[in-house]
Amino acid sequence: MKEKVNKTDEEWRRQLTDEQFAVTRKKATERPFTGQYHASKEVGVYRCVCCGTELFDSGTKFDSGTGWPSFWAPVNDDHVATEEDYSFGMRRVEVLCRVCDAHLGHVFDDGPAPTYQRYCINSASLKHEKG
Ligand code: FE
Repeated sequence: MKEKVNKTDEEWRRQLTDEQFAVTRKKATERPFTGQYHASKEVGVYRCVCCGTELFDSGTKFDSGTGWPSFWAPVNDDHVATEEDYSFGMRRVEVLCRVCDAHLGHVFDDGPAPTYQRYCINSASLKHEKG
């Protein structure tokens, strides 16, 4: 288990773009079909844009048609945390980076086999590394 990363908003602002900061530290959602990775089929790993933790692998990425990068599983369950989210009058399950608490997106149970999970993740929270 990696050591937790804790930084102030000011420190995060210095290393992130405005959009990355809004999504990961303030739980904003990027507009669909606008992100860098929703249509990407490049092989490799997707790391947390804030702390570099490996979060998702291109091998679990699928085209959900939603306009956000979608995966049916994280690289490792220990690298992500989930939390109930009741914002906007909906019950959803928020997905966070377990190391730095970055907001990543939400997970839904309408994904494909073998897990039937759909991790709906903001491109702005990810950094792809070619595999
Ligand atoms: Fe992180």
